[in-house]
Amino acid sequence: MAKIKVMDELLANKIAAGEVVERCASVVKELVENSIDAGSSEIKIDLIEAGTVQIKVTDNGSGMDKEDAVLAFGRHATSKLKNEDDLFHIMTLGFRGEALASIASVSKVNLKTCMQDVGTEVVIHGGKVLSVEPCEARIGTILTIDSLFYNTPARLKHMKSLYTELASITDYVNKIALSHPEIKFVLTNNNSSLLNTDGSNNLLKTISAVYGMDITRKMVEVSSEDEDYNITGYMSLPEVHRSSRNGMVTIVNGRVVRNMDLNRVINDSYHSYKPDNRYPIVVFNIEVDPTLVDVNVHPTKMDIKFSKMEELQTLITKMIQNQLKSRSLIPHIEVEEKEDEVVNEKPIYQEQTLDLNRVAETEDYIVIKDEVKVESPLFQVKEAKEEEVEKKSSNHLPELYPVGLVHGTYIICQNELGMYMIDQHAAKERINYELFKKKLGNPNHDSTSLLFPMTFEISNKDFIILKENFEILRNMNFEIEEFGLNSIIVKAHPTWLPKGYEKDATFKIMETLLEVEKDFSIEKFNEKVATMMSCKLAIKANENITELEMEQLIQDLKNCDNPFNCPHGRPTIIFYSNYDLEKLFKRSGFDLAKW
Ligand code: ZN
Ligand code: ZN
Repeated sequence: MAKIKVMDELLANKIAAGEVVERCASVVKELVENSIDAGSSEIKIDLIEAGTVQIKVTDNGSGMDKEDAVLAFGRHATSKLKNEDDLFHIMTLGFRGEALASIASVSKVNLKTCMQDVGTEVVIHGGKVLSVEPCEARIGTILTIDSLFYNTPARLKHMKSLYTELASITDYVNKIALSHPEIKFVLTNNNSSLLNTDGSNNLLKTISAVYGMDITRKMVEVSSEDEDYNITGYMSLPEVHRSSRNGMVTIVNGRVVRNMDLNRVINDSYHSYKPDNRYPIVVFNIEVDPTLVDVNVHPTKMDIKFSKMEELQTLITKMIQNQLKSRSLIPHIEVEEKEDEVVNEKPIYQEQTLDLNRVAETEDYIVIKDEVKVESPLFQVKEAKEEEVEKKSSNHLPELYPVGLVHGTYIICQNELGMYMIDQHAAKERINYELFKKKLGNPNHDSTSLLFPMTFEISNKDFIILKENFEILRNMNFEIEEFGLNSIIVKAHPTWLPKGYEKDATFKIMETLLEVEKDFSIEKFNEKVATMMSCKLAIKANENITELEMEQLIQDLKNCDNPFNCPHGRPTIIFYSNYDLEKLFKRSGFDLAKW
């Protein structure tokens, strides 16, 4: 009888493993979360072949005694339930308790753990306990998982490529490290280091360990709160963006969550400061009363619903936009400097000081030093009082003096700080876009009646949809009617349609209406129309303009709410500091008088 019962349990574990232990990443996740629960301040994850050959997690947590060490691999181990207060305690129910048993059933496990003087070593193969012995003492736990899925070949086949496995483990460990800057995380694969955080509880340093110095320099500290929410963290300047949403890390009451709405709100807040289909890097810690969130648990992901989402949305949008509106966002063209060039060109004494610093100080120092570098005149924040930000004032574009035009496309400007290049088309687009947005937002009743009305023949399906939405076009001051079979006639159009492009623009506006019709909102429609028209009307590249026209363009750009990007999010202006120019021409560090 006893034997049968054991067989049942093994089988059940194997089946559960199929659901819970889908991949190496889910094993790593399980082990790391156990280490965190054990109060570890250092967690080291060593992989061989992306974890397919071996996953080893070493922590300095509280460890287990002999009894718990064996029980940990039994089904429904319930030690996790002690933190009932934890908002996310439901996470541990029914899933976490079984996970170790599931992992053990499909791999070869070696557990070394110690609470006090004598440690315990447990060896389990395919779910069968082979030995339980005393071992050397070292407070904490070392859990080694070898040959994952060795006894379930079908599952093994389903494993993705090593690269994919490694990418998802790295992604997980990065995020858990960002949510626990107070814990030191080390991640290696085949003995090469992938992540090494310092556990100093400094989020910016963790960001630097995850994303590197170049991105860290472009991260801005943010915070905001109201009665229900408290948000702290960092957001990237809009010049930093990535093709995936992975860099948007939202942590709710200490747990990394994945929430589509949050991601959308964050990305939308950067609208027109960067391309919409590129995503920022943020790390936001959101503290909220647990009763205001609803946790939807699935073993492999973690979603959450906020009962006051609109409030949170407003808070986040304001927080991000206040930063964007209060900063000079001209991308600084940084000139890469190779180490040996520094050695050659810096005066000797300076080189020595630098060296001493590097040797004497820890990495923290370097981080802080580099941070100081960010505070070049261009990145200085003008104290962002809300009213000030809200009223239209964009003196954050500096005085610029045009000196010429390259390829009829790029305006070269200068001031005492250095050299600027303006993309003529992008700049004009931005100016037009803000103009059209204003016109669309406050429609008057000015329309131009046409001596020769415009007619359009369209498909029957589009005709039906358009006819349903004539009112929207009439509100824009189009005089529009049916004109026989699948045809419409326009007898008057708004005055602000670009001259010479009236018919084209009208057609494009109708197309835009068809495009947004399914999920229509007037804001979205106006936004699309303004973007489309601004591009149409912008100066095409390769068009020469006079210096006077350049000055006018710069002036108009300065008057924009956001002079830094075209409506598609491309930069309108880039900057080379005097120092960068000197570096480019190898002038820096030399005594210029001699050269
Ligand atoms: Zn364009
Ligand atoms: Zn554009």
